[in-house]
Amino acid sequence: MDYILKCRVCKVEYSDMHRYQACGSCGGNLEVVYTEKPRFKKSNGERFWSYEYLLPKARYRHTELGGTKLISSSDDERLFLKLEIENPTRSFKDRGSIVEIAKAKEYGYETIVCASTGNMAYSLAYYAKLEDMRARVFIGGSASKHKVRNIKELQDADVEKVDGDFNKALDVAYKYAARHKAFLAGDYCYRKEGQKTLIYEIMDQLHDATHIIVPVGNATLLSGIFKGLKEMKQAGHIKKLPKIVAVQARKCSPLVKAFANGEKIKYQKPMTAADAIAVGYPTFGDDALGMLRTSKGMAMAVSESEMLKEQKRFLEDYGLVAELASVSTVAAYKKLKLKENEKAVAIISGGNV
Ligand SMILES: [Zn+2]
Repeated sequence: MDYILKCRVCKVEYSDMHRYQACGSCGGNLEVVYTEKPRFKKSNGERFWSYEYLLPKARYRHTELGGTKLISSSDDERLFLKLEIENPTRSFKDRGSIVEIAKAKEYGYETIVCASTGNMAYSLAYYAKLEDMRARVFIGGSASKHKVRNIKELQDADVEKVDGDFNKALDVAYKYAARHKAFLAGDYCYRKEGQKTLIYEIMDQLHDATHIIVPVGNATLLSGIFKGLKEMKQAGHIKKLPKIVAVQARKCSPLVKAFANGEKIKYQKPMTAADAIAVGYPTFGDDALGMLRTSKGMAMAVSESEMLKEQKRFLEDYGLVAELASVSTVAAYKKLKLKENEKAVAIISGGNV
């Protein structure tokens, strides 16, 4: 769809040819604002590209991604699992990467740069490689050595470990993009558009879902899910909004704490082993927090041992390796008291262990 970009902070508007993923006057997050109201066609949620008309206009490479399975849980008929580990790089990040890389290519960039805890860099490097672009990645302290090696060796990316956490890596990536002619990719407006397709698929696969359980790192997925739901509701594609349950690891839960205390998000040093959600200050945190509050959603923290237990069970029950962030949603489900006729979807976000 045709769109403009609008700063979420100072409300300045930019045309769709604005090359930077931040506001030129205040540095705030930009948002893709479509110039027409989205209208939804019928879909069974099994093809990512069936939603292309709801994405920012671009020349996309139509490779296989998304359309991931929604399966019933093996022991609870009210729980469903959305298997994002079926994506090409085994995480939901692919949905956002394909949009970012398409835009970077359209703008004529040869290099993309990003900060990541691991999964996003792996995904971005994969799609950059398909388009013969270089990927330069800054990784914060908590990413596993295995992930770092895979990004370097399998996706030919230039990887630099940053002394500090994800937010420090973000700062370094931002400065690098400003100094060199590189496209700053990551948790920004275009990625959010790609990632909102996850909720389109879920609602088309399970019309009567009442709860969606979402792991939260940078809160881009959470924010994208709210945007997708709003579009579907406004278009009359869904009647009732499901309740959103945001999940973080207790050892890195700035959003959960802010939600409980009715405050703004404060930085918390990430101490969790769930590296995919080890973000001390989420980029879309306050955005998503506001939407979580107005929609009367929930925010929950789960412990390291609860995640480890679910990870083991997941492997036994489904024969699938899910990373800790993925099963944080299943651990959170165990604390939800659902009524008889309610149905929850836990997002199994990634499997890069
Ligand atoms: Zn601004």
